[in-house]
Amino acid sequence: MIKTRDNKPHIGIFGRRNTGKSSFINSLVGQEIAIVSEQAGTTTDPVKKSIEIFGIGPAIVVDTAGIDDTGELGKKRIEKSLEVLKIVDCAVLMISENTFESYEKALIEAFNSYEVPYILVHNKSDEQPLEEETRIRIGTITKAELTDFSAKEKNNLDKVIVSLKNSIPESVFQKPQLLGDIIGKGDYVLLITPIDNEAPDGRMILPQVMAIRDVLDNDAINIVLKEDQVENFFKTSGITPKLAITDSQVFGKMKDIVPANVPFTSFSIMLARFRGNFKAYLDGTPKIDELQDGDRVLILESCTHQVNCDDIGRFKLPNWIKEYTGRNIEYDVVAGLDKITRDMEDYKMVIQCGGCMVTRKQLRSRLKSAKDASIAISNYGMAIAWVNGMFDRVTEPFSKVYA
Ligand code: SF4
Repeated sequence: MIKTRDNKPHIGIFGRRNTGKSSFINSLVGQEIAIVSEQAGTTTDPVKKSIEIFGIGPAIVVDTAGIDDTGELGKKRIEKSLEVLKIVDCAVLMISENTFESYEKALIEAFNSYEVPYILVHNKSDEQPLEEETRIRIGTITKAELTDFSAKEKNNLDKVIVSLKNSIPESVFQKPQLLGDIIGKGDYVLLITPIDNEAPDGRMILPQVMAIRDVLDNDAINIVLKEDQVENFFKTSGITPKLAITDSQVFGKMKDIVPANVPFTSFSIMLARFRGNFKAYLDGTPKIDELQDGDRVLILESCTHQVNCDDIGRFKLPNWIKEYTGRNIEYDVVAGLDKITRDMEDYKMVIQCGGCMVTRKQLRSRLKSAKDASIAISNYGMAIAWVNGMFDRVTEPFSKVYA
């Protein structure tokens, strides 16, 4: 099993104010790293830290504010704490002093609703051990593992770490394939990367960098060209690449230039498979044909990066869809972790960006409400391919191997 920076488990720490969440994190790491205070409610916004847990390895821990806050500020803290459930792979619910009431039950409901596996840790057990009556009460609500613990005495730290490790889904440690299952040693891979006004100054964008690195990791050979060099390459080089990957925006220009016998896709579609919603996009994209005048489409961008994606989501994609369908469609664009303010049922379709800056879990959580409401989902690359009449061709390289 390979662990990388990209798939470090994200662990959320939840519980009432001053159950010892921050001290618990310090115990996991073996040093003082979090905000610890005697005063209830010292932790405000969720605090994200990259840590190393003995027995688990590198991880990201997210220390949340107390869930039992009151007043306006408290409400905001609670909302922010629950937002964390969209990005964590597992959760620790800290309790202490035998307190297990409606706050804890509400959190467990939230874990279940976001499908986040969790464990319970009863902290400060040296001061007040877990009573049988509390254990029975908890047992009527959840079957999750519950461990008596003391951050001060480090009682049961090993047991807590084993239980935490067991709660992290196996899939978090599995490195998904970017290209490794469709290219091999010595293969040529053609990467078509327009260097235009929208390209960032002096560097490549993340999906291009990821592809270049993956080609090298697989002992294959990168050929990186601008789009106006591709025609000459095929005329003169005598090379038949094992795969050609383009920026989706030049699909239209490239479709007659990349020969039909060369498997062809885009960086965005490569990422769609890597980030794990490929099947939903495959099924949802053809619904573009069913859009009618006045229908509403939600464009989701996973970060607030202004380079490139901003322009695609707000202008290019809506224009291409209008040209293709001839329909007047309404669009809402929601970026980063901004709230989706309309009801999901108001939308006929959701089109998601490539999601290069976020994890699989974050993308899955972002699309959950659309999936739950059976709204068609597509992504930038697939939608652009559809309106260019290239959908089957450019999804084919991954269609037999999607995760
Ligand atoms: S996460 Fe989405 S919006 Fe942000 S740079 Fe990547 S593809 Fe663009």
